[in-house]
Amino acid sequence: MKTQTAGTPMLIAGQWEYGRDTIDVLDPQDNSLIDTVPAATKEDLLRALDAAQEGVKIAEQLTVKQRMEVLQGAADYVESRSEEYAIVIAREASKTIREARKEVARCVKTLRVSAGETRRISGETIPFDEAAGGENRVGYYYRIPIGLIAAITPFNDPLNLVAHKVGPAIAGGNAVIVKPATVTPLSALKLAEAFIAAGLPEKVLTVITGHGSEIGDALVSHPAVRMVSFTGGLDAGNHISKTAGLKKIGMELGSNSPVIVLSDADLEDAVQASVSGAFYAAGQNCLGVQRIYVQNDVYDKFIDRFVSSTKHLQTGDKLSEETDMGPLITEKEAKRIEKWVNEAVLDGAQILTGGHRNGAYYEPTVLVNVTPGSKIAVEEVFGPVVSIFRVSNLNEAINFANSVNYGLQAGIFTNGVSEAFKAIQRLEVGGVMINDSSDYRLDAMPFGGVKASGLGREGIRFSLEQMTEPKVACFKLS
Ligand code: NAP
Repeated sequence: MKTQTAGTPMLIAGQWEYGRDTIDVLDPQDNSLIDTVPAATKEDLLRALDAAQEGVKIAEQLTVKQRMEVLQGAADYVESRSEEYAIVIAREASKTIREARKEVARCVKTLRVSAGETRRISGETIPFDEAAGGENRVGYYYRIPIGLIAAITPFNDPLNLVAHKVGPAIAGGNAVIVKPATVTPLSALKLAEAFIAAGLPEKVLTVITGHGSEIGDALVSHPAVRMVSFTGGLDAGNHISKTAGLKKIGMELGSNSPVIVLSDADLEDAVQASVSGAFYAAGQNCLGVQRIYVQNDVYDKFIDRFVSSTKHLQTGDKLSEETDMGPLITEKEAKRIEKWVNEAVLDGAQILTGGHRNGAYYEPTVLVNVTPGSKIAVEEVFGPVVSIFRVSNLNEAINFANSVNYGLQAGIFTNGVSEAFKAIQRLEVGGVMINDSSDYRLDAMPFGGVKASGLGREGIRFSLEQMTEPKVACFKLS
């Protein structure tokens, strides 16, 4: 759909620009028009890439002090306008206002941690004399910026996941081109506003709005782009990996995270954390709880409490303080989830609560008797649907948990130290949360997955490792 509204401009290398065509940004809860953004063309992108190459030279000259000041300044700007930022998220994305406020607070933290990490980018001396011929050599390595980074981000955390790329990119002395999700471009543009207000030099940051299918290949394959930092789904991730060519790739992909509940667990904790983990952001969360494996003797009690707690969740207007869960990002996504659940039911699954769709809203849904290996058990649902399985012991739970192609995070509820350690060792994931659901993340921790959940780690310090390269200096003494 095209409109004539001037709308919000995109940021091409420090200049706010309107495009020839526009993209309508719709509120998923009622499809009302919020704003428009430019639909960038390939020509726009090539201009942005040209300017960004000058931006690389500018960014690498920024002192650590300047980078820290810009990052702190951007954090101050966002923090002092927190509610404004939260409303943008809650309108263009599917988060409720309470969820959106949490994301804004996390974004501020991500930027402040990025500022702090800037002064910790360092190297070490190298003991050249460990090998023959090195006796009269001294030297060190330090870390240099990688150059130009293409940052491609998804819709579900439209502000903080952009900050997770722009923060460390700038901390590392790089230029960055952000391509936000087409359905949620406004939060990224609003973050760019904070960087400009904080004095980031022109040409260092671009936020280009446009369809990945139209400008994506030209962006990721461009030789000036030295790293593609992608967060999104497996299909787009696979495509980008094949298209990008010889450059660094960071891939933060999806999952269908498991939680294990053993009979010695604090059941109330397990229920509350898992309900929240399953339905936060309407289940559109890469760490969302999708599969729960509960030990036999607490299974019935867990199910009763889980279903009762789920029934208390209020869906509705995202801007209402009372609402716990908003809609899916589009009605199309809600229909996909409806189809998956209906297929699971035909396959023998039973719906304990939920299972109905109304426009883009899909009720928080709990399934049992799901066939292991069926689509809803092995693919990423990315919606408010959780399947609960009965298991007889930890080994069986771990085997089921590992029986999928994804591996981002997992949770286990137990009071047994040996059980917890066994789970840590054997679960094929990037992180194991003990006595919490899979849905816990500290923005400064190493974050990323194994198997189809991704390549590399984010979490500022860990992103910085990828966004900088070691350079060696070796003095041969006479
Ligand atoms: P998506 O459809 O894969 O899109 C993600 C981004 O990739 C969007 O900006 C999209 O642009 C762009 N894109 C799509 N095709 C492209 C191409 N050929 N070249 C370049 N860019 C392209 O994912 P989504 O639906 O927005 O987000 C949901 C997915 O993200 C889920 O799988 C979720 O698990 C994952 N995720 C992972 C993490 C993590 O940290 N591991 C965090 C959050 C989300 P358009 O919008 O224009 O198509």
